[in-house]
Amino acid sequence: MRQAGRTASEILHHLTTLIAPGVTTGAIDHAASQLMSQRGVKSAFLGYRKFPGHICISLNEEVVHGIGSHRAIAYGDIVKMDVGIIQDGWVGDNATSVAVGIIDPGVEMLLADTERILMQAIALARPGNRVGDISHHVESESKKCGYSVVREFVGHGVGRKLHEDPQVPNFGKRGTGPKLKPGMTLAIEPMINMGCADVKILADKWTAVTADGRPSAHFEHTVLVTESEPEVLTWPGKTLSK
Ligand code: MG
Repeated sequence: MRQAGRTASEILHHLTTLIAPGVTTGAIDHAASQLMSQRGVKSAFLGYRKFPGHICISLNEEVVHGIGSHRAIAYGDIVKMDVGIIQDGWVGDNATSVAVGIIDPGVEMLLADTERILMQAIALARPGNRVGDISHHVESESKKCGYSVVREFVGHGVGRKLHEDPQVPNFGKRGTGPKLKPGMTLAIEPMINMGCADVKILADKWTAVTADGRPSAHFEHTVLVTESEPEVLTWPGKTLSK
């Protein structure tokens, strides 16, 4: 899991350096497929329920599950990339949101807040806490900022398979849900909308967009619950304390 997480994070980081105005989302997907084959790993997404891309790449009001195409990235866009790989039978899953040039300050704040909320949620992934503590934190912090959280898609356990139990919703009640235990590996992934929480699915049957067309942000890490501080497997060499 550590190795898969490291590889997933390195590929995601490499892809962020390729984001620029004029580059197509399909070119980013192609670069991802090359990086994966160079490292001898496979996309965890390609073919999953017939998903056609190597990564998910979603712009602006697209929340998650966007498919690389000939659409060119534009100055002022926000680009969300979700990279999941399988290495030696283990999955690493992570996502980030990138601003292309100078963007609207409110949207820039949405990205910063979403990443901060993810990091705070990760710090709650400790034995004795429950999944609901993570869920509640993401929801309440988002509301405090005037945002809303997506309810249709949730974080998840991750391991041999991309999606394992337990689900890790971005909404919920403190003190509820499964107890966190050392050895659990979770993909924690707030999807936070600037406007309303509702999403709809485009005709490609994959791309989720906000119902009101306002921007959405997404950050994700694969996290190992340990006896003490959580270990971020998709952020090599780092741990987070409360
Ligand atoms: Mg995930």
